Amino acid sequence: MPAAQDPPVPPGVIVIGAGFCGVAVVARLAAQCPPGTHLTVLEQGPRWGRGLAYGTRSSSHWLNVPAGRLGLDPDHEAGFHDWLQQVHPGHAANAFVPRMWLGDYLCASLQAATELAQQRGLTVTHEMATAVDWLPAAAGQAAAVTLSDGRVLQARAVVLATGHLPPSPPALPRPAPGPDAVANEVAEDVPPLTWGAPGLMANPSQLEWLDGLDEDAEVLVLGSGLTAIDMVTMLQDQGHQGRITLLSRRGLLPQPHRSLEARPRPGLSPVAELGDESRLRHMLRAVRRWMSEAAADQRDWRDVMASLRGCTPSLWQRLSLRDRRQFLRHLQPWWDTHRHRLAPGIHRRLQGAMAAGQVALQAGRLLSVDRSADGALSVRWQRRGGPVVEARVALLVNCTGATTGLSRASTGLLARLRQQGVLTPDALDLGVLVDEQHRPLDTAGHGRAGLYYVGPMLKAQRWEAVAVPELRRHARQVADAVAVFMAELEADTSADGATASPAEALSGPACAR
Ligand SMILES: Cc1cc2nc3c(=O)[nH]c(=O)nc-3n(C[C@H](O)[C@H](O)[C@H](O)COP(=O)(O)OP(=O)(O)OC[C@H]3O[C@@H](n4cnc5c(N)ncnc54)[C@H](O)[C@@H]3O)c2cc1C
Repeated sequence: MPAAQDPPVPPGVIVIGAGFCGVAVVARLAAQCPPGTHLTVLEQGPRWGRGLAYGTRSSSHWLNVPAGRLGLDPDHEAGFHDWLQQVHPGHAANAFVPRMWLGDYLCASLQAATELAQQRGLTVTHEMATAVDWLPAAAGQAAAVTLSDGRVLQARAVVLATGHLPPSPPALPRPAPGPDAVANEVAEDVPPLTWGAPGLMANPSQLEWLDGLDEDAEVLVLGSGLTAIDMVTMLQDQGHQGRITLLSRRGLLPQPHRSLEARPRPGLSPVAELGDESRLRHMLRAVRRWMSEAAADQRDWRDVMASLRGCTPSLWQRLSLRDRRQFLRHLQPWWDTHRHRLAPGIHRRLQGAMAAGQVALQAGRLLSVDRSADGALSVRWQRRGGPVVEARVALLVNCTGATTGLSRASTGLLARLRQQGVLTPDALDLGVLVDEQHRPLDTAGHGRAGLYYVGPMLKAQRWEAVAVPELRRHARQVADAVAVFMAELEADTSADGATASPAEALSGPACAR
């Protein structure tokens, strides 16, 4: 029980991160939490309500899901398209539109949620701040979130909706010994170049790196996925004329969507046929067969992929660790390029740039990066099954993709929580482990009362967890778990005439750190 002089525990929820998931959680909490609840939304960056993906200001960055399926509310997936009809009329529900429009819709949704909350007697605060730590509730107290400016906010429940971790670019190999060097000599005296040095752009969302780039300069992009293609369109938009080479291990590009995506006919992936099959090899064989059957039936392979989507988490969970590893090693590049497809307009544009010779695709492995006397970068890579290629480039951009690998994070809130044992990475370092209420599992395997996670790191347990249709469902589950938690605390408070701690309110494991 709290001491008589203790201030009452604030009946609040803090949502850390105002990107897609944060907005989806707030929208649901605004409708579900009891009057009197205080909601605080924290966002560290300038992309309020938009997050990393939808904070782009480039009209060449397009959504890779049709507009009619991108609503925030899982019960109203047409929500974004309905909004679009008001603001940018004339786009069909199965059309692909710029990503920044989804960002505008999310901002409008956050505003609407704030107004709804206020009408229902809740209060909402938006804070531009970076959360750096979370401390669990002690008996009778609230949990505490520490901000980078030293302030400490209190709340009964905290939702981590912090998105992807910053990209972790690959190592920059040291230059090989010069022609006069003794064979196999290691160039000990050549210091490695580091990302962030001139011309070495580690994070493709830091677009200020493109300011002042000579329009004829040669650019090498590491990666050939969706992020790399975003970079190509970004460069073209600013009038870049120079050659852009995309280098990735296998040289695979994302497949295009059909110009008007259709819903798949049910039954194209009859997963029930698999029974409780848990071997990757057998699953793969079945998927190939379904693909062939669909082709024989004049159906598109995309429909098979789409109809697999709902059962992907259960297939993933059945795989042994060894099979998951095999999947990541051998199949993931094919999965990614077939599952995460390009909007047709962007695909046509890329094909045009490749046909014109401005964009080249190379399969290969980076061998070395050196700086020439004139400041340019001298880069060598081993082509897959081919010779070593040498090029001089003005800019090397890391577009190997966003990361969810928790054990690679060394700074920031999630890294701190991992170091303290509050968050646990999975064995393959794909994300975080949570219980059925989305409470992160600590190193002892227990969910912490009052702490929740939603976002792409759920990939660890579900594999399919990074796109809007899954995220909005997960956000709904988190918000509902938080609302139940808050209601239970409220009920305990009323019954006892005193405030119970979150730990007392749940029968779950103790929440001491
Ligand atoms: C470039 C890109 C394009 C994509 N395109 C599509 C698409 O077309 N269709 C689709 O379905 N999916 C797409 N996705 C996938 C998915 O929709 C997004 O990743 C999704 O936006 C993730 O939402 P989120 O809320 O988890 O993260 P984000 O939207 O990134 O939001 C997280 C927010 O938390 C903030 N934050 C982080 N740490 C802190 C802290 N300590 N304190 C305060 N604030 C913090 C960040 O600044 C950020 O704004 C795309 C992803 C990317 C990266």
